Amino acid sequence: MVVGESGLGKSTLINSLFLGDLYKNRKITDVQDRIEKTTTIEKKTMEIEERGVKLRLTIVDTPGFGDAINCEDSWRVCSAYIDEQFRQYFTDESGLNRRHMQDNRVHCCLYFVPPWAHSIRQVDLEMMKRLHRKVNIVVVIAKADSLTSSEIKRLKTRILADLEEHQIQVYQFPECDSDEDEEFKQQDRELKAAAPFAVVAADTVLEVGGKRVRGRQYPWGIVDVENPRHSDFTKLRTMLISTHMQDLKDVTQDVHYENFRAQCISQISQHAMRERGKLKRDSMGNNNEVVFTDTDRLLLQKDEEIRRMQDMLTQMQEKLKASDKKHDSIIDV
Ligand code: GDP
Repeated sequence: MVVGESGLGKSTLINSLFLGDLYKNRKITDVQDRIEKTTTIEKKTMEIEERGVKLRLTIVDTPGFGDAINCEDSWRVCSAYIDEQFRQYFTDESGLNRRHMQDNRVHCCLYFVPPWAHSIRQVDLEMMKRLHRKVNIVVVIAKADSLTSSEIKRLKTRILADLEEHQIQVYQFPECDSDEDEEFKQQDRELKAAAPFAVVAADTVLEVGGKRVRGRQYPWGIVDVENPRHSDFTKLRTMLISTHMQDLKDVTQDVHYENFRAQCISQISQHAMRERGKLKRDSMGNNNEVVFTDTDRLLLQKDEEIRRMQDMLTQMQEKLKASDKKHDSIIDV
């Protein structure tokens, strides 16, 4: 999912990241539309190939964020979209035909912050607060070519400090396995040091020294988006579709989805409890026999499921606490 106000280069970045042109038919909204409009979700699917493996990638764009005066609507739409995908998965998982389940859960949210802000703006903080317990947020500084190297450094430091101060849990990179080779460990260290990623995007291909590169042509030179000295674009790409794709999916399943599932089951259980109260009174009124209705059976099943889940969550919390202090506070049951 990509989130951020219009014009920050979200579509250009997505096209550059996945070497496609997802947004060629896009219509730019006029001012009147922007004032009235709430965020609308745009979903596009593309197939990419990474090291011989075909991946089906779904991009969820939230084009109007920040344009409409009432931001509350924008927040609600993004949050509701994520919940809806969890709900669908929960329903499919409880159904009989699990073999053909489609996983449309949002595994990562690229959150774009503007380069001209001095840190994270209030509007972005509010949005992140609503999303951080539902999805893996990866913060991206847009249009980094408009900042000098020292400005980028300063902005990154302020963003990290703000996230900590407001207790926003963005995606935490896991520890690198000690068995990995030195080259991989070095790559991992550089990746962690680069977050939040300062990126430059371009949808034009230019020729530089006989090589074709994706870049932005300025009167004084060319910004090559894949050059690590110019931007963190390549690090972000590697992380998303290679080194951390599985971990993003695992954290979605083990932390965010389990949170959602636990809430759902607790609601079902409370509802069933209320229903059972009613049915007990009715049956006692008849002939004092305890009648096991379908609701009772469902309740017993759900009670059992909650008990199992609670055990599982306790184990997970202990495991997470031991391996990564930062993850344990995300689990909020
Ligand atoms: P969106 O509304 O967030 O999807 O933004 P777009 O991708 O449509 O980009 C808006 C404008 O910003 C376009 O003119 C892009 O060429 C330009 N743009 C995109 N990425 C960058 C970047 O990294 N640096 C600069 N300077 N401009 C960019």
